[in-house]
Amino acid sequence: MDLIFEKSTSGRRLSVLPVCDVEEVSFSPDRCRTKALRLPQMSETEISRHYSRLAERAYGVNDGFYPLGSCTMKYNPKVNETVAAYKELTDIHPLQPEDSVQGWMEILDSAEEYLCGITGMDAVSFQPAAGAHGEFTGLLLIKAYHTANHDTKRNKILVPDSSHGTNPASGAMCGYEVISVPSNEDGGLDLEQLAAMAGEDTAGLMLTNPNTLGIFDKDILKITEIIHEAGGLCYYDGANLNAIMGIVRPGDMGFDVMHMNLHKTFSTPHGGGGPGSGPVACKEFLAQYLPGKRVSKTEGANGGQYCFASPERSFGSVGMFYGNALVVAKALAYLLVLGREGVPYTAKNAVLNAKYMKAKLEDVYSIPYSEACMHEFVISAEDLKRETDVTAMDVAKAMIDYGIHPPTVYFPLIVKEALMIEPTETETRETLDEAISILRKIREEAYENPEKLAGAPHKAAIKRPDEVTAARHPLVRYSFAECENDD
Ligand SMILES: *Cc1c(COP(=O)(O)O)cnc(C)c1O
Repeated sequence: MDLIFEKSTSGRRLSVLPVCDVEEVSFSPDRCRTKALRLPQMSETEISRHYSRLAERAYGVNDGFYPLGSCTMKYNPKVNETVAAYKELTDIHPLQPEDSVQGWMEILDSAEEYLCGITGMDAVSFQPAAGAHGEFTGLLLIKAYHTANHDTKRNKILVPDSSHGTNPASGAMCGYEVISVPSNEDGGLDLEQLAAMAGEDTAGLMLTNPNTLGIFDKDILKITEIIHEAGGLCYYDGANLNAIMGIVRPGDMGFDVMHMNLHKTFSTPHGGGGPGSGPVACKEFLAQYLPGKRVSKTEGANGGQYCFASPERSFGSVGMFYGNALVVAKALAYLLVLGREGVPYTAKNAVLNAKYMKAKLEDVYSIPYSEACMHEFVISAEDLKRETDVTAMDVAKAMIDYGIHPPTVYFPLIVKEALMIEPTETETRETLDEAISILRKIREEAYENPEKLAGAPHKAAIKRPDEVTAARHPLVRYSFAECENDD
């Protein structure tokens, strides 16, 4: 498909604009451009068709099944967008006088209250704009706590080998030495190794639970106890609370601080680069170090007034003002629609859908840590590769030809040839059945016609980009022929 610049024809214009009736003014030449602006020149029809074609090429939750493990590509109710577009919420400046934004503050306050209720924590900061940003913020809280206690020898963060990739990265960003804790054969944490690794230099543990294998660690209480006994704090990666919300709470499992991804569990569209929100929640004793300003309520007439205040020993800011506040408004709309009954119901259906797909696939695909799958499960295509040369990547690419989005591949790292499937709660039984039959058919094709799979996708516009180059050196700018090295 040609880019809009390649479709441009010099002199072509929109035909619908009236003749300009504004008086022309002239500037002194030194304030004028010396070269014409390089804008594409097209008719309105062409522009409209160009963007429609682009939209058709994108694949989103509204187009079909999207089982991208760990990413929770659930359907995002449109009512959330309606709420976030209210002009009473958008036409506001963050520095407006407090008495003119009481409604907004109530939104932030209510969202904080519900999220505390769901997580078992006491305070929330909405400043972080993404999950990894929340991890970074949470680790800064842990650091602020140890520093305030003059306990500065704690320079290590323990991170299980089944954790999300952002966890070790966040640990390193905060200047910690990241120590990888091995998993046991059930996919949980190896307690003996953990106990041996935890000590006077342990700042804390970062745990994703259910982990990236989709397993809820049955030793969770022992894990947090081991870390606390060593004097460390426990961080819960709650990017994806889909399996547990309304059922169990990280705060009750012994965790001190965590983040959530509003743009996963709490239904804000994501995948296109934001805006996201990765609020950090913590126990009372850490709240004094939280970043930015938080909403509190003063006593007084008519139920009091909301006001913004910096936590007493805040370590500073990690973002602008109150974070991506409109995403918080979407999450609150979602929670209010679900209500107290809907939140656990959502979690149960997320787990049920994953267990259903797993049960219908495990006779043909190998699923290494099968027992305790929660909201997602991981297939290993290792045997398939051995027997047919067809890899996890080939299976994923073949799914594109069948019109569904591939799952996460080659992650978690502890499973060879991994395909990590998270159906989410918003898919119907029929959609799951169709995806199951597609995956079964691909498995048959792998034995009958492996070459076909090696060449998949056959129907997509882009076949097999070099994944590393695409990620590290993406070409996102058109280079104009007449000025190769020009900015
Ligand atoms: C998605 C995810 C993250 C990172 O969230 P971003 O918003 O992409 O930064 C961290 N941990 C887990 C378990 C996740 O699934």
